[in-house]
Amino acid sequence: MRYCLRCCYPENCRPSILFDEHGVCSGCRTFEQRRSETVNWKEKQQELATLLESYKEQARKNNAPYDCIIPISGGKDSHFQAHLITQIYKMKPLFVAYNHAYNTAVGMRNLTNMVDKFGCDLIRYTTNPKTARKISRYMLKKVGDITWHYHAGIMTFPIQIAVRYRIPLMIWGEHGEALLHGMHNLEDKVEFTKKHRQEHLMRGFEPEDILDDPQNKDITRTDLAPFFYPSDDEIGSLNLRGIYLSNYYPWDEFEHTKMVIEKYGFETFQDRQTSFNLYQKVDDFFQDTHNYLKYLKFGYGRVTDQASTEIRNQRLTREQGIELIKKYEHLIRPKNLDIFLKFVEMTEKEFLDNIEHLRDKSAWQKKPNGEWELLDWVGNHVFDKGIEDARLQIKEKWYSLKTPKKDSARNSSDNEDEELIFL
Ligand SMILES: [Zn+2]
Repeated sequence: MRYCLRCCYPENCRPSILFDEHGVCSGCRTFEQRRSETVNWKEKQQELATLLESYKEQARKNNAPYDCIIPISGGKDSHFQAHLITQIYKMKPLFVAYNHAYNTAVGMRNLTNMVDKFGCDLIRYTTNPKTARKISRYMLKKVGDITWHYHAGIMTFPIQIAVRYRIPLMIWGEHGEALLHGMHNLEDKVEFTKKHRQEHLMRGFEPEDILDDPQNKDITRTDLAPFFYPSDDEIGSLNLRGIYLSNYYPWDEFEHTKMVIEKYGFETFQDRQTSFNLYQKVDDFFQDTHNYLKYLKFGYGRVTDQASTEIRNQRLTREQGIELIKKYEHLIRPKNLDIFLKFVEMTEKEFLDNIEHLRDKSAWQKKPNGEWELLDWVGNHVFDKGIEDARLQIKEKWYSLKTPKKDSARNSSDNEDEELIFL
């Protein structure tokens, strides 16, 4: 396997990655371009201000109560989006959230915190746990993803609300693939599309595909209600647009998290079994199981994403990144896998059998005794030729942004990380 000489990404990185003649990946190159002094962020932010002003004006003319929608989970990005939109651009957003039913106590506190601190209204759609269970079981078998409904929900329900309330602007935070893998560069000014949502975030599945699938035994139209995309006519008559703030700001989530902790009291995880990063996906109870699945499929997981981001931000060396991958990513069976298996009523063998066909054969090999063996990992590539030429110098040492645990009226147990909260 080939690995980027600057970060830790392997060449089988999903959805796609390219390496240049120096052995540096497209994600690192896009990142470098974004950090270059030639990018005029002030000009971009002025452009954003003009754009937002036109929507404010339109809302005023229409006597509309809200200027825009911010789709939120309550996480650090949601806090940062709300900060920019309410404090810097003085807009009146409507928050829209999708409750996937797999919540953590700290995630619930952060969501409540947002509604309180920003003084914005929230519409939240809650999927019931029985439906969540059916969809997780189905998608685990199909694509090895237990969180399809998270993505389908947050990428579709806000658009249903935009159409229903006639709000023509949605404001998203970062465009994930553009930043991680360099799928788009800054000049593309990529906006939200139904196609990107379906292909990358919903793994190719619209709800209609699930209903038409003969292998689907129990998922109904009602189960899929928040995932149906409005018609082209509905979208067109509203002139609906979805913009990404990462097209207008350098986007450093470490810096954003520091700010939202200090200014708004955002809370991080206390501990995370499968990652050093305590501020991503704080609301997601089954994140550890989700990370584990990614590793079992592709031979690398979310720690590779997180370490690579910090290497590009010049806070970790590649060697430190590799140490973190070794510590957190490799064959750590997450504790909450047991809770997940109990919830979806599945044995561990069934769970593993379900994803057997999804193992990437360029990363894994089946031994004669039936066990899977990882063929290679970035730790075997510490001294590859060209590493020193590709290396970035450390600007600021990485440190954990862990916040003190807050007391909560709804949850005060010591082991709250092990409590699954539906509502
Ligand atoms: Zn790279």
